Order: sequence, then structure tokens, then C-alpha cells
Amino acid sequence: MQPVTEDQIRDSFVNTSAGDAKRLPMPGLHEVVWDEREYLGWHDAKAPQRAYLTVWRDGHPISMVLRAAEHRVRPGISAMCSLCHMPQPGPQVVLFSAPRSGDAGRKGDTVGTYICADLGCSAIIRIAPPAAPMQLPPEEVVQRRISGLRDRVEAFTASVLAV
Ligand SMILES: [Zn+2]
Repeated sequence: MQPVTEDQIRDSFVNTSAGDAKRLPMPGLHEVVWDEREYLGWHDAKAPQRAYLTVWRDGHPISMVLRAAEHRVRPGISAMCSLCHMPQPGPQVVLFSAPRSGDAGRKGDTVGTYICADLGCSAIIRIAPPAAPMQLPPEEVVQRRISGLRDRVEAFTASVLAV
């Protein structure tokens, strides 16, 4: 993804108040390898249920507040993140809900989706599978995952924006 600055992030929240956007914690941006990310995601150390996502859409950054559900998928069951589509042990995937932007969100309307608990989709999809006969080459698999993740992050953002 294209890099974003703290100011850009704060100014781009679409589903919380401007006051909240001013106060919420920013991620460490110095270590981010932007070329290897489809979105920027971070947790709120002071409010563990809260997480934040920034993406680029039509040349503008869009940031969203998410809330993690209290309950986790049971251990022993495998679950799949709706963004990266990587199957994982259940507890590593969490139901997040995002208020919709505008009036719908103020009335309590949310979009729920299962996402990697650590918001690490971009890292997990880049772990190439071992080469195997009759399978796509590992680089091709990773490229397909990247474009799939991009598409699904775009669709999720659109549903939060209710467009
Ligand atoms: Zn994921």
C-alpha cells in the first residue's frame, strides 16, 4: 500500500467522531514495510477490544474503528479470515464489527466480519507454500492471495462506507 502519515490517518476516520479520532492511539509507522501490506491494522493497547484499519481507496486513505467480539472461536476448530482467506486455528480469527459511516453508524448499524486477530493478513499470505507438482508455483499462489486480499479489503471498506 501507499504510505500514510499520522495526520492522514487521523483525518481519514470514517466511522467515529472527529474528537475520538484525535485521541485514539497511532501505530508505529517507522517500521512498516509499506510494499508488503494491503492495509495498516493496529490494536489499542488501552482498550484491547478496539482495533483500527487504514486502507487506500480511490487515492484517499480511509481509516476505520473496529471492535472485537468478546467470544472467540473455540480452540480445536479451524476458522478462516474473511479478508485473507487463510485457514487458521479458531482462536486466531476474531469477529470484528465496524460501525458504518454516517447516519447508519450513528444509529448503531455495523458491519461484522471475521479477521485475523492480530490483523496480520499481509504477513500470513506472504508465507509461500512449498512447491508441489500439479500446483501453482509458490510465487503465483502468493500473488493470487495478494490480489484476493486487496479485493476483499476493498469490499469491506465499501460496506463500511455503505457505498
Ligand atoms: Zn486475515
